[in-house]
Amino acid sequence: MDKLFSRMLSAKKLKVYREKLLGGFARIAMPTLKSETQIQQVESVEKAYAMAKYAYSSASLYKTKYDHAVVKLGNYASPSDFLNIPILTKNELREGGLEGISNSQFSGAAHLLKTSGSSGSPVRIYRDDERMWEMAAYNMEIYYRWCEGKPYSNVLYFIDPTENTIDFAIAENLRTTVMEERLYSTFLPVEQQIQIIFEIEPEFISSYPTTMRNIASWMVTHGKSQPSVKMIHLTSESLDPSTRNLITTVFTNAQLIDSYTSTEVGLVGMPCLTHGGYHVPSASLLVEILDEQNQSTEETGKIVVTDLQNLSTPVVRYDGLADYGSWATEPCTCGLYSPRIKSIEGRIIDSIQTRDGNAQSPYTLTNAMGRVEGIIAYQIIQEEVDRFKVRVVVKDEFKTENSQLGEHVQRLLSGALKSQVHCELIIEEEILPATGARKVPLVISMVTRAAQ
Ligand SMILES: [Zn+2]
Repeated sequence: MDKLFSRMLSAKKLKVYREKLLGGFARIAMPTLKSETQIQQVESVEKAYAMAKYAYSSASLYKTKYDHAVVKLGNYASPSDFLNIPILTKNELREGGLEGISNSQFSGAAHLLKTSGSSGSPVRIYRDDERMWEMAAYNMEIYYRWCEGKPYSNVLYFIDPTENTIDFAIAENLRTTVMEERLYSTFLPVEQQIQIIFEIEPEFISSYPTTMRNIASWMVTHGKSQPSVKMIHLTSESLDPSTRNLITTVFTNAQLIDSYTSTEVGLVGMPCLTHGGYHVPSASLLVEILDEQNQSTEETGKIVVTDLQNLSTPVVRYDGLADYGSWATEPCTCGLYSPRIKSIEGRIIDSIQTRDGNAQSPYTLTNAMGRVEGIIAYQIIQEEVDRFKVRVVVKDEFKTENSQLGEHVQRLLSGALKSQVHCELIIEEEILPATGARKVPLVISMVTRAAQ
């Protein structure tokens, strides 16, 4: 069946890749003592400031931006020096173009990467080859922790084979440790993916929430389950509670683990097994959580990242991940002491606009939908402030109860939004991604998109 790579890596290339992976391991730092973390935190702000100076001197977009904001980048004295640096938005990154944001003098190996463009035209950046291998090393390190040092031998990956995506770059690096015949495309028809799962009976699957949701939804419809799977690793998109529930309904023995990753800066958070949330790889990334005035907050705020290592395209105080999160304050005893983000909100799904003009987390709606019996898959579209269209795939026995289901959903959404809304329910056979896209957004707001 259509494997992601039709040929194996040559022995020569495999040797080179193994050396690069070892190089990645040499660069990662996972503090295991509280004192180490504190030192690392202090150092990371200073490193981020150095990166801002590097960006200013090497990429025209940053020079123009910082000159315009009259920011003087002198010697680093205290964290407030860094906190005066303006935030970089996704639009600036997009419009600055690859030339504007990249270091034209950079001579090392780098990968050209594009974001998926699910919310507008894609952003293009370069990512240092060394940074990609570092991410591979982090991924292996956390995988060994999850398996308590006994990695599963029977593994399966469904990966996005689109050129210039970070997922495909990761797949290439995975060939160092995973056999090619276990790497498949996420674009295979769902029936084929399920056939592969039932043939291989893997213990470990790694893929994306959308892909696993499609697979699980097909299995629910056809009354199937697969207990062989012990662990499912999800990445690239956030895992909402209803998707988590659906996946564990059919993979009854699986532990679900999700990494927080992005095209722009790679790994943002490693899943914490004991306390939940995501540990920041703070040796290579500075994460800030800021309020609307761009001040640090202990509440839920936007996630702003500075890559401390990537030299081909510097990414400094970037808020274009469009994710919201909050810091976990209680100490973590999982063995990782790096800062921990409690939860992530707002990926691949839009915020909802309320009548008073505020943005509301779409998770209030997805949580409400998670309580409706009989729904296998859904998509909520906010067409106007108080008009919603809800596409659903339902179990057979619910197909005849169309009108009651519609009223039930309308009541739940009105309750979640604390305001009466009109809701049109459409029963579908399946909900597919747009042509060329992998993701099916759970919540789309035409109102929010029109305002952007
Ligand atoms: Zn932890």
